[in-house]
Amino acid sequence: MKDVHLIVNGMVQGNCWIVGENQECYIIDPGDEANKIISWVERHYAKVKAILLTHGHFDHCGAVDEVAEAFKCPVYIDFQDLVYIGTPTKKASEALFGVDLVLKTPLKSLADFKDDNITVLKTPGHTPGSVTFLFKDIKAAFTGDCLFKYSIGRTDLPGGDYNEMLASLKFLASLPDDYMIYPGHEPAGSMKEIAYGLNPYISAYHKHH
Ligand SMILES: [Zn+2]
Repeated sequence: MKDVHLIVNGMVQGNCWIVGENQECYIIDPGDEANKIISWVERHYAKVKAILLTHGHFDHCGAVDEVAEAFKCPVYIDFQDLVYIGTPTKKASEALFGVDLVLKTPLKSLADFKDDNITVLKTPGHTPGSVTFLFKDIKAAFTGDCLFKYSIGRTDLPGGDYNEMLASLKFLASLPDDYMIYPGHEPAGSMKEIAYGLNPYISAYHKHH
C-alpha cells in the first residue's frame, strides 16, 4: 500500500509530499529545506521516480535543484508556469518575498509525464500552469495552491485568475467523498470533511456521494 508522508518546510510552511511504495517514491513540491527532504527520503526509499511540481512558485520549487541532484531524478512541471522560475521580472515570489528563484535543473513538461496510476488535472487560477495530481489507487488529490482544507489559493498574484479558480474548484468538487485532499499548505482532509462545511468554496459545488 502506498504511503503518503508530509514534510512541512520553509518560511511560508509549504507542504512537500512524499508518495511511495516498494522502495520507490515521488516527491511533490520540494519548496525549501532540501537537506531535511533528502535525508528523510534516503532513509525510506531506494529510488525517486520523479519530482512533480503543482506550480512554479518558489515555496513549491525552491529545493528542486538540490533534491534533483541528490536523486538524479527527472522534474516535471506544467510549462505555462516556467515564467515564474525563468524570467525574473514576472515572478510572483520576487515581488512578495524578495526571493529570486532561477532553477538550474532541466525541467520536463507534464505533457510528457506518464504513469497509468496518476492523472494530471489542469487546475489554473492560482497560476496559469497550476495542476492537481490524482493518484487513483489511493484516491488522493495533491492540489497545490488551488484547494486547501479550509480555504483556497490566492488569485491576486501575477497570472492569477479568480474565474479560472472557481472553475477549477468546481471541477475538484466533483471528486468523491472518500478522496483525500493533500494541499500545498494547511493540513490534509477528506473530500467529505472539506465539503461538509469546512470549505465554503467546495461546499457550494460538491454533491455528496
Ligand atoms: Zn503558490
